[in-house]
Amino acid sequence: MTKYIFVTGGVTSSLGKGIISASLAKLLQARGYRVTIQKFDPYINIDPGTLNPYEHGECYVTEDGAETDLDLGHYERFLNVPTSQANNITTGRIYQNVINKERQGEYLGKTVQVVPHITDEIKRNMRILGESGQYDIVITELGGTVGDIESLPFIEAVRQFKWEEGANNAIVIHLTLIPFLAAAGELKTKPTQHSVKALLEYGIQPDILVCRTEHHITPDIRKKIALFCNVNINAVVESIDASSIYSVPLLMMKEQLDKTVLSKLKLPQKNEPDMESWKDFLGRLKNPTAEVKIGLVGKYIELPDAYKSITEAFIHAGAKNECKVRVEYIHSESLYDDNAKEKLSHLDGVLVAPGFGSRGIEGKIDTIKYVRENEVPFFGICLGMQCAVIEFGRNVLGLEGANTVEIDENTKFPVINMMEDQKNITTKGGTMRLGAYPCDVKKGTKAFAAYGKSHISERHRHRYEFNNEYLKQYEEAGMIASGTNPDSHLVEIVELKNHPFFVGGQFHPELKSTVANPHPLFVKFVAAAMEYAKKKIKK
Ligand code: GLN
Repeated sequence: MTKYIFVTGGVTSSLGKGIISASLAKLLQARGYRVTIQKFDPYINIDPGTLNPYEHGECYVTEDGAETDLDLGHYERFLNVPTSQANNITTGRIYQNVINKERQGEYLGKTVQVVPHITDEIKRNMRILGESGQYDIVITELGGTVGDIESLPFIEAVRQFKWEEGANNAIVIHLTLIPFLAAAGELKTKPTQHSVKALLEYGIQPDILVCRTEHHITPDIRKKIALFCNVNINAVVESIDASSIYSVPLLMMKEQLDKTVLSKLKLPQKNEPDMESWKDFLGRLKNPTAEVKIGLVGKYIELPDAYKSITEAFIHAGAKNECKVRVEYIHSESLYDDNAKEKLSHLDGVLVAPGFGSRGIEGKIDTIKYVRENEVPFFGICLGMQCAVIEFGRNVLGLEGANTVEIDENTKFPVINMMEDQKNITTKGGTMRLGAYPCDVKKGTKAFAAYGKSHISERHRHRYEFNNEYLKQYEEAGMIASGTNPDSHLVEIVELKNHPFFVGGQFHPELKSTVANPHPLFVKFVAAAMEYAKKKIKK
């Protein structure tokens, strides 16, 4: 029988519910439990695929092609287990399901209402992963903050769910803030008391409180919180600010969050969590023997969450290489041919980011010209790879005005073209080429050296592709297709033969990088940057 843990948030947003959920899941997994995490988001978009990254950070894509919340990326990076469409549900999707059922006559004769129809549909979705039989424990993170109008139906669904499953089968962890008032020199518990009171008004007594704080919580404060919020003292858990999100599982282990959870759920403790390989990763992360500076050239750099998976993949690859990777965000709109040297020459590697639309694209192309000519290690992802193809077309093959038809429909040299099966699509939500596709990697290439195998699978999110009519011309001039889709022959990886490291992927390798499995292309890219840095010092 599956047990359920709900994670709610109080006082403010951005307390790190996703990291707490992932850390708890990691500890339970390390004790031998099969765990998954799902996220319920209260907004009305069907999924975050149509949201601007400035609004909601990166859109994370799962194996099965769902466009989801970036917290799913944390779940996968911590657990090393893939998520799917079922792991991310929005209010929009809940309403869409209910309205579709209404049109099909499923509620014939009835008034369709928030309670019970919307709450029933929420509960049905909360149980889908549990009922698959694949998991012992399902953690459900509720987006938003308790008290928000839009999250009310979810809170009511949790109340009913708890009542239906019983106290030992479903518990609520409430994440709150204990602010430190500098003027008073004190930690304050009142916001937490109020936020628990709000939950109580909705009929939910939280079982465990995780208290985010900048300073250690004293035993007296723990006692006070326990007393006024109706929980045991050992159910008041400190979550102190950490230097790395990857330290949080160990902090939670010290606080015995996993033990408390298991005893509330009446589950055996099994063995102590086996966190050896995690500690090994942290050791390498915190004791680097080298350092590189890598430029991330993109147009959403004002909000680092827009490139979350990329920055995390650098952390994994850095630890693997025992190298500190300093990522410098560079606005693609601030770059052009004339200042490329000034902006880029201090870097040991450059990654050109994914993206959509024309803003900043010429800056990306000029960046690539600089790194190609100066043999700086380069890694292009999706639009970044497409820009590499455009740059090579214009400046090496002499195809003046070469472009992607996404930017210039009438270009004389459409080296990046719209994919055939995208041409008749007019709607925007969930219609790109999404999710995992196979790719054959050519032996003797840099891609092969990274993966060490011929058959790989990577995740996608795009509408445009390398135009194969130009392939022969490109390969003869030194830009080769080192990875292709075995069925459609779509070019998945390009690289330069005569360059220390110049690789572009049509897919998103960053989505598959985890603590346990750093992505091989990122690992090789960081290694190439280390090599470049060493040579620079010698020079
Ligand atoms: N805009 C490009 C396309 O749709 C690249 C997409 C991306 O970078 N994710 O093909």
